[in-house]
This record gives sequence, C-alpha cells and structure tokens, in this order.
Amino acid sequence: MRKPLIAGNWKMNKTVSEAVDFVNRLKSHIPLNPPGDSFRGMSDVEVVICPTFVTLSEVGKILEGSSIKLGAQNMYMQENGAYTGEISPLMLKELGCRYVIIGHSERREYFKEDNKLINAKIKLALKYQLRPILCVGETLSEYQDNQTIDVVRTEIREGLAGIDEEQMSQVAIAYEPIWAIGTGETATPSDANKVHKIIRKIISDMFDAKTGEKTRIQYGGSVKPDNMSALMEQPDIDGALVGGASLSAESFIRIVNYDKKD
Ligand code: PEP
Repeated sequence: MRKPLIAGNWKMNKTVSEAVDFVNRLKSHIPLNPPGDSFRGMSDVEVVICPTFVTLSEVGKILEGSSIKLGAQNMYMQENGAYTGEISPLMLKELGCRYVIIGHSERREYFKEDNKLINAKIKLALKYQLRPILCVGETLSEYQDNQTIDVVRTEIREGLAGIDEEQMSQVAIAYEPIWAIGTGETATPSDANKVHKIIRKIISDMFDAKTGEKTRIQYGGSVKPDNMSALMEQPDIDGALVGGASLSAESFIRIVNYDKKD
C-alpha cells in the first residue's frame, strides 16, 4: 500500500513573512492529531512543503513537531566549496528538510540541467538521507510526436543510474507533462494513469517488481482542488506535485483533502 505523497512547490514565490503566515494557517487547518475518520488529509497522506531556500529556516521552525514535512526545490551536487550561489544537501539537512525536488522541468529548461547532473544530485541527496522527488515529463511537441514514453524512460534510466533497490525505496517520481505545468491544461486522469503504469513498469524492469510496486509516482501539472479527487481515484497515481495551487493555503488544504467542493 503506497501512502500518497502531496508536495507543494512554491517555486520563486513568497517572502519570509508571507511564508510564515501561510504555514501558520496551514498548520491550524491540519492538526497534529487528526480527529478521526472524517478528517482524511493527514491520516492518509504525507504532505510536504517546498518553499524557497531563504524561507526554509523559518518555515522549518513552524513545522517542527508537525506531520507536515519540509522539502527543498533543488540542491547542488557537491557538499561544499567554491560554487557561488549554490546550496548543499548538508545545509538542507540541517534545516530539517526531508525531501528535495530534483530535475524539475524548469531546472532542465532554464538552467540546462541534464540527466547526468540530475543523477549526481540524486546520489548525493540519498547520501544525506534527503528523499529525492525526481521530476520527469515530455514537452508539448514530444507529446504531439508520441514520444512521451521514450522521454520518461530515458529520464528515469539516466536519472536513476547506479541507484540500488534500497536507495530507490527513498525516491519518489513526479510525472509532470511539461505542457500541463502552469497552463491550466491537465492530462486526463486516465491518460496520466497510463503513463504512471508504464513508469512503474520501467522501475520494475530497472530494479525489481517489488520496487516498482512500492515506488510512489506523483502526478504534476495544473493540479487543483477540482481535479485532485479524480486523479487520486487512479490506481497508479500516488499523490501530486502541486505548483500554482499550493500557493493559497485554502486551495492546498482542499487538495490535501481531495476536496473538490466550493
Ligand atoms: C510544478 O511546477 O511542478 C507544477 C506542477 O506546477 P502547476 O501545478 O502550477 O502546474
């Protein structure tokens, strides 16, 4: 049984005061001890917030002792040294990060991150017990050319090269069709599920069937309160990586609860 993983990726949004306000509101809506079956969110799902680097410290302090986990949006693939402007996994670890997003399409596109670099980051994250969320997904033209599976297969094989089964138990995959990110377009739940199922098979072939079965595969791309429950009904969708809709406490709380009602 895979516990759904729902992560909010704030990208380059929210100042420290805005972040503090958001997380305080989130915490007051997501209690430490869920009050029984009627509250579905925290008993059934793992929730992660990935704020900017400069807000991690304050957000981490507020989340201490809470079931909401802290994640980073990126890291560098060295422990320390002369890498101006970069952030090491050791620094993230000390601030209480448990997860780190690696290989987001915006990093691949704007910062020219390739699968080799992404693989190095994943290995270093694992060395410091940070759980990587590896993002994969095709562009619109690749989608139109029916290349989705080839693209995600290469990103997964190269991104996870040299990782063993035990390490893989710490990794989650986020399938994010790039044409659906921030556009309001989403893959239909059943189309997304088809890709997730194939990703699971790719993982099973790379590692073993048990690892494939255990790996959590999130969907990302314009996830909103309205479409979350339909996505989560799919058997191979194990949560979501949420960008825009994670910036409002109200909508993120609804997503975590699969609550599509206004
Ligand atoms: C993302 O950037 O990972 C993402 C899925 O963004 P959005 O939810 O805004 O499409």
